[in-house]
Amino acid sequence: MHISIIIPCYNEELVILETYKKLTDEIKKLNEKYELIFINDGSNDSTLSILKEIATKDNLVKIINLSRNFGHQNAVTAGINNCNGDIAVIIDADLQDPPSAIPLMIEKMQSESANVVYGVRKDREGETWIKLLTAKIFYRLLNKLSDVSFPLDTGDFRIIDRSVINQFNSLKEKNKYIRGLISWMGYKQIPFYYSRQARFAGETKYPFKKMLKLALTSIFYFSKKPLDIAISLGIISVSIGLIYVLWVFISIIFSLGHVVTGWTSTIVIIVFFGGIQLLTTGILGKYIGNLFDEAKNRPEYIIENKINF
Ligand code: UDP
Ligand code: MG
Repeated sequence: MHISIIIPCYNEELVILETYKKLTDEIKKLNEKYELIFINDGSNDSTLSILKEIATKDNLVKIINLSRNFGHQNAVTAGINNCNGDIAVIIDADLQDPPSAIPLMIEKMQSESANVVYGVRKDREGETWIKLLTAKIFYRLLNKLSDVSFPLDTGDFRIIDRSVINQFNSLKEKNKYIRGLISWMGYKQIPFYYSRQARFAGETKYPFKKMLKLALTSIFYFSKKPLDIAISLGIISVSIGLIYVLWVFISIIFSLGHVVTGWTSTIVIIVFFGGIQLLTTGILGKYIGNLFDEAKNRPEYIIENKINF
């Protein structure tokens, strides 16, 4: 069996050497053919030079150097597209996903003849409560919104076999939400529970902005429910409008005196309807924007050079 390990790296100079050592230790125990594929996602620290140094001494270390920062999902995609293994392990560079879990996951994959073994976080160390809370709400909301059901509390840490790799490589969509796509594919997918460690060193490369982008991609690529929500909001606001008109008529007919003094209510209604219109156009715009991205058909990443391939 040939095992590919895919490690996306963005400014990971503080951890990358340690990650290399830990991964190599674990994978050597298996006595199988392997390759470590580090994807340098446009780091602007010394990540690339450290990787190059490792790669000159160890030719099982391969580097895909992207021409700029394309983001985590695209870096992982580059890794999957270029791996040669019968199975591929996707793992973060910061040792938050324990390398020691890999042999156990492979064993589980074989004993249960599964196509995918995905890591599920039992507990997470060293994360802010904000991140834990938003992650919790987000995964549950996504499941409510989406037409496919996703396993909860799962990141991209997983093992996939050749059939999944080949299917993944044939997907044409550009903005990939990898964990969602793999889950959508079906096949036999089983969980592996682990505790997520604190980052070995350095700080998160997923600021709120990137997290929000990933969350929006997952919702707008896997669900049409926001469009239903927009329609429902429209119906509700039209109903409210109609009821108000009725109220105005009744006031006029029975001289209740509400009509002239109604400045506040007018403003409230304008603001309310304006808000709903903006929201609805925003939702529509998001889907059109996604179509725009797909229609341009630009590559998801650009490889500047490859080392040891
Ligand atoms: N990463 C990347 N490109 C980016 C952001 C992150 O390749 O633009 C990598 C990063 O080096 C790490 C993994 O994606 O290996 C997960 O990032 P991070 O640990 O910062 O995210 P968190 O665990 O805080 O969610
Ligand atoms: Mg991390």
